[in-house]
Amino acid sequence: MADTALMSIPGQVDPVPVARDITPRADGRVDLMGLPKARIKQLFEEAGLDPKQAKLRSKQVYHWLYHRGTTDFAQMTDISKKMQPWMAERFVVGRPNVVEAQHSTDGTRKWLLKTDDGHEFEMVFIPDETRGTLCVSSQVGCTLNCTFCHTGTMRLVRNLTPGEIVGQVMLARDALGEWPKGRMDIADDESESEYRADGRLLTNIVMMGMGEPLYNFDHVRDALQLVMDGEGLALSKRRITLSTSGVVPMMYKCGEEIGVNLAVSLHAVTKDIRDEIVPINRKYGIEELLKACADYPGASNARRITFEYVMLKDKNDSDDDARELVRLIREYDLPAKVNLIPFNPWPGAAYECSDPERIKAFSNIIFASGISGPIRTPRGRDIDAACGQLKTAAQKKSRAERDREAAEAAATAD
Ligand code: SAH
Ligand code: SF4
Repeated sequence: MADTALMSIPGQVDPVPVARDITPRADGRVDLMGLPKARIKQLFEEAGLDPKQAKLRSKQVYHWLYHRGTTDFAQMTDISKKMQPWMAERFVVGRPNVVEAQHSTDGTRKWLLKTDDGHEFEMVFIPDETRGTLCVSSQVGCTLNCTFCHTGTMRLVRNLTPGEIVGQVMLARDALGEWPKGRMDIADDESESEYRADGRLLTNIVMMGMGEPLYNFDHVRDALQLVMDGEGLALSKRRITLSTSGVVPMMYKCGEEIGVNLAVSLHAVTKDIRDEIVPINRKYGIEELLKACADYPGASNARRITFEYVMLKDKNDSDDDARELVRLIREYDLPAKVNLIPFNPWPGAAYECSDPERIKAFSNIIFASGISGPIRTPRGRDIDAACGQLKTAAQKKSRAERDREAAEAAATAD
């Protein structure tokens, strides 16, 4: 049974307890969502199937789970009528629970989701003319406290499990009605086009929701492997981008083991300002960070690293800042593009967004140097779905409360 003992996140700045792995279900059944094929096979063997059966069944179930989005064993038509209830007695295929779904006037959609043990988190879907991007969360809250980010003000943090991460993508496909409709036992029943990513609304994934994905590396990697697997959700790694605030020791590993596009939340070009607004900079400074970008496996002119730069009035938005940004990109010879993000306000934030003319001037300096520096249009601001606005209400707990909960959870786990 899954272990709910509390553990610390490696390398975090402000240690907080986080629950590990999947919460056991009251009915004793095991949730297969988020598990790889080998683990499903192992569970089938432990439940009594012989190795040959377990191998065949795990292959079938894996296909139904991730390629078809099926949650009901009774609909897995190539599994015998006798075997289906055997599975349903022992296993389930879950999804994150939907607390609320909101629609912005610009077409952006936001879902407030809840884990089985009651933690709330959010995912956002952003459609535009050429693509549909799902913004996926990796943690409940974030330990890193960037001063301009609402998520950073959430006190309670827990890593999301692989099932809760890939479950967001599955849920989006459920909501968008995007699973292949045919039956796998009747090959002619479906047209080829149903399998093509470009025919779909959900074409891209960005790990830019709540949390720092590189502080939940293993779970993010395991979830994205299911997303990228041709027999799974089958989305190309070129359509997936992971954004980090600069967890330098994990960046190389990310390129090696996940291989997706990298975005880096740079936001400032001097030590003083970056120390202030992105506090992880005190641990891993700008030079180290840019060196890690230069070493990022797979980065090339065809697959550039994106630098995210939030535009904060009178803080990081001068012409000198723009020129220094260009100089740094050149010094480290980085295949880079810059995304200028107008600051999205939230109640109590200590910053204002730079004026549009200032942002334009900043962008012009970057473009004039030959580097792409577009200004991003904020999406979903009216439903608090824009960058840095994600925050759930339920998590404002004091340190004392968290310590008490951690102690209680540890006691029950014994
Ligand atoms: N934790 C990761 C990924 C999630 S944040 C990271 O920091 O990279 C996604 C992007 O939104 C980051 O670049 C983040 O710095 C930016 N962001 C945070 N708060 C913002 C705000 N209020 N306005 C605009 N962008 C913001
Ligand atoms: Fe965390 Fe990213 Fe927000 Fe910083 S910007 S607090 S790293 S989610």
